[in-house]
Amino acid sequence: MSGGRQFFVGGNFKMNGNTKSLSAIAERLSSSDLDDTVEVVVAPPASYLALLSAKLSAKENVNVSAQNVHEAEKGAFTGEISCSMAQDCGARYAILGHSERRHVFGESNEQIGTKTKSVLAAGLVVIACIGEKAEDRKSGNTMNVCVEQLTAFKENINDWSKVVIAYEPVWAIGTGEVATPEIAQETHSQIRTWLSENVGSEVAASTRIIYGGSVNGKNCKDLSLQPDIDGFLVGGASLKPEFVDIINCTR
Ligand code: PGA
Repeated sequence: MSGGRQFFVGGNFKMNGNTKSLSAIAERLSSSDLDDTVEVVVAPPASYLALLSAKLSAKENVNVSAQNVHEAEKGAFTGEISCSMAQDCGARYAILGHSERRHVFGESNEQIGTKTKSVLAAGLVVIACIGEKAEDRKSGNTMNVCVEQLTAFKENINDWSKVVIAYEPVWAIGTGEVATPEIAQETHSQIRTWLSENVGSEVAASTRIIYGGSVNGKNCKDLSLQPDIDGFLVGGASLKPEFVDIINCTR
């Protein structure tokens, strides 16, 4: 972390938890001594957005995010939720383009771009996920893939102060195979250079680029020391007590 950017720690609960276990997580976050210079966001399943946002309402620097939204405002889209519905349940952020949305549910860059436009129009902050597969890294295509994904976001972004970029190499998500601080830093720095050349130097300097993929209480500190890593998007470990250590790792 450097450059005066506020450290950001997101917890992506994915399709995990129930009223009891997610209430316990909210209570743990509420009663813990969290570093109040860190922006903390938790993304429960949509069915628990209202619960978490009510339970965390007293904690000023902890907010709630949707894991995904549909781009339309309402209508015949069985099983989906709109930006305004997520907002109505307390969400202030929306994760878009997560690897599982791309690779399990087949979302295209184009679709993710359309969602980005809707999310920003609704006044939510976008957590814009990008990242390459193992074969892309092996064949030297990491930045080609990331740039394609970034471009689809960029074409739909009019206010970069409402965007956090999450670099999450697919090979590191849920595998226990965290990127080394050097590998993560190298890609984060390339992403920042891309921002500078394609959006502008001010946006490049102020936009948070967070890392995701097997972050835990043990590896977070070293990653956080890298100059272009401005926080984390945490999956598995966000459900555990060590999430508090990850939030506090820059103290
Ligand atoms: P993980 O997931 O921390 O369990 O690897 C990260 C993510 O999917 O955002």
